[in-house]
Amino acid sequence: MRDAEVMAEAATDISGVNPGAAAAALLDWYEAHAREMPWRVGPADRARGVRPDPYRVWLSEVMLQQTTVAAVRAYFRRFTELWPRVEDLASAPDAVVMGEWAGLGYYARARNLLACARAVAHDHAGRFPDTVDGLRALPGIGPYTAAAVAAIAFDRPAVVVDGNVERVVARLFAVETPLPGAKPELTRLAGRLTPNDRPGDHAQAMMDLGATICTPRKPACGICPVMAFCTGRKAGLAADLPRKAAKAAKPTRQGTVWVARRPDGALVLERRADKGLLGGMLGFPGDGWDGKGSDAPLSADWQVVGEVRHTFTHFHLILSVAVADSEAAPKRGEWMTMPAFHPTDLPTLMRKAYDLAVAAGVSHPRPAAGHLRQVEAGAGSTKGKVQ
Ligand code: SF4
Repeated sequence: MRDAEVMAEAATDISGVNPGAAAAALLDWYEAHAREMPWRVGPADRARGVRPDPYRVWLSEVMLQQTTVAAVRAYFRRFTELWPRVEDLASAPDAVVMGEWAGLGYYARARNLLACARAVAHDHAGRFPDTVDGLRALPGIGPYTAAAVAAIAFDRPAVVVDGNVERVVARLFAVETPLPGAKPELTRLAGRLTPNDRPGDHAQAMMDLGATICTPRKPACGICPVMAFCTGRKAGLAADLPRKAAKAAKPTRQGTVWVARRPDGALVLERRADKGLLGGMLGFPGDGWDGKGSDAPLSADWQVVGEVRHTFTHFHLILSVAVADSEAAPKRGEWMTMPAFHPTDLPTLMRKAYDLAVAAGVSHPRPAAGHLRQVEAGAGSTKGKVQ
């Protein structure tokens, strides 16, 4: 019997898992296999006394919600180049921050990011609170982010539970209750695994294990550092866990977005209201996408050039894109020319509409009426998830 198996059997609790030994094996693995991240202080530097910058930890955690590490890296580098300290971000204009956030999706996060940065800069002299409760009191910081920042930045033994951790814990303890009902149980079990010594490294080790070995479809149990402790593997259930309750089908909504072009190349754009879908983001005027309808921003010979599809958190959207030439003053929005308007400032849905309009000739002679084209989600455009 190998050492880890001896340890696993020596101090198992009622679930059959030895949490202390499992956590120790996980930390040993993390020391050798931690992923390198631009926001992370690796275990070797940590052992030398290097401390993580709470601002960078918080920024990365906000960006990583619902977004992959690969997608976040470039945004993180850009934000920290532009705004190296929380005070710098706090004093940045809203529109500039929203523009830099474009493409990351879930735009309410960008508004909360700014509100939180300003609270830290103005109410806490630029220093993040170092407890879960103190962090929770900041705008836009929920239980997950508070726990992650408290653990990673301040080495508090907070219980950090994201999707990766839920999966690892469900398998390790063979929890068969379906999600989301299993969340309280998984959080409780994750708490039993969380050590008082190096809880920040533990939290990151759990995330790394879930992202690289205990992956959703094919867990690589043969190279897993906690294999000897894993009840789900022993029961032959690993790949089936966590179980998930059937999701209700998302409804599909339809709407229209209007792209008006002036001879000098200017386009009619508007900044959306702060609250609601794509709040605070720049975009083309639309009809509300709620079935209630709304008028075009100006009278013109509108031509529908195709449609774009996009999936939001709670519904799918099929958006007709209408284009027209005009020099009239718009009833909504304003004419903007290229130096003031950057296509990269647009959220993903509006960027799809812009790309379609450009492909249909908005920057060139207009195509024949009825020329239809579809931009499918994920084909030539990024399928974004935005709120
Ligand atoms: S042994 Fe397999 S199922 Fe269990 S934690 Fe490791 S990778 Fe996941």
